[in-house]
Amino acid sequence: SRTREPRGGARGTRRLYIVQKHAASRLHYDFRLELDGTLKSWAVPKGPGVQPGAKRLAVHVEDHPVEYGSFEGIIPEGEYGGGTVMLWDRGTWEAIGDARAAYRAGRLKFRLHGERLKGIWNLVRMSGAAGEKGKNWLLIKDRDEASSRQETTEKKTTSVASGRSMDAIRRGRPRVRRSKGGEEHRA
Ligand code: MN
Repeated sequence: SRTREPRGGARGTRRLYIVQKHAASRLHYDFRLELDGTLKSWAVPKGPGVQPGAKRLAVHVEDHPVEYGSFEGIIPEGEYGGGTVMLWDRGTWEAIGDARAAYRAGRLKFRLHGERLKGIWNLVRMSGAAGEKGKNWLLIKDRDEASSRQETTEKKTTSVASGRSMDAIRRGRPRVRRSKGGEEHRA
């Protein structure tokens, strides 16, 4: 197979990491890790727990294109995932061990270099009924130096990309950004 990286991924390879806060029919946080040119995705209803050893249910959902990782805005009602999407965290992740093998085995250990979430985390697949491989995983904060210093997920209520609240995104309040020429324009 043709891949851009060495088989198994080089040690220390940094890949895109994203969390999108998503007010759909139910509020959840979409936790996304780039692997093999796509975003592996888990919906975390309660959001990542940052305290040492915190465990949160993470439901594996379909892969998303890497380009979607920069999306913030409104998905129209009636479409899949209709609702408001906020870029809640972004950065890179680094597998501890072989990323592909660990993902396939349902036991990923990795370091996050996010703007908000840092340190070592685990994603562990739970066995389903009759030992089947289920969609339910656990997102577990490792007991490391980064865990106790972080504020809880609930206290971070604005976008890392635009500074907007969910309500401001929902109401379509434009972010103000500067283009290369320096002039401000509404995006
Ligand atoms: Mn979602």
